[in-house]
Amino acid sequence: MSAPSPTADLVVAFDSDSAFYWDGAADGRLLAQRCAVCERLWHPPGPVCPHCQALDWSIADLPLSGELYSVAEIHEPGSPIQGTNYLVALAEFTDQHGGPPVRIAANLRGASLAEATIGAAVTVHFEALAGGRALPQFQLAAERGQ
Ligand SMILES: [Zn+2]
Repeated sequence: MSAPSPTADLVVAFDSDSAFYWDGAADGRLLAQRCAVCERLWHPPGPVCPHCQALDWSIADLPLSGELYSVAEIHEPGSPIQGTNYLVALAEFTDQHGGPPVRIAANLRGASLAEATIGAAVTVHFEALAGGRALPQFQLAAERGQ
């Protein structure tokens, strides 16, 4: 029997700026915003392009595989994942329109800090949360046989 998910009781708090991101995650999609003016991607969600301050944007699907950019091991006894250490990673995802990649943070599951080599391929999976929501999570691609 597997242990209960450490994130199963988390509740996603979102607003009108980030609702698209969480709706996408619930549908198994990793989404970012694409600026209508400079055409660059951005994340985390927000109302204004951080590159050119434009207000018009569209939703862009990201590939469900990326590259590990940075990782940290968290030791936080007061967290919902109390009693365990966990990894938080920043991964880069290719802009399929040829622009600069976009970076997204998530937990890196199923790996130790020693196994989390910068530049390693990661895949995204979506962990079900209460209320029909889902939380994007990373996993080293090699661990899934990819
Ligand atoms: Zn822009």
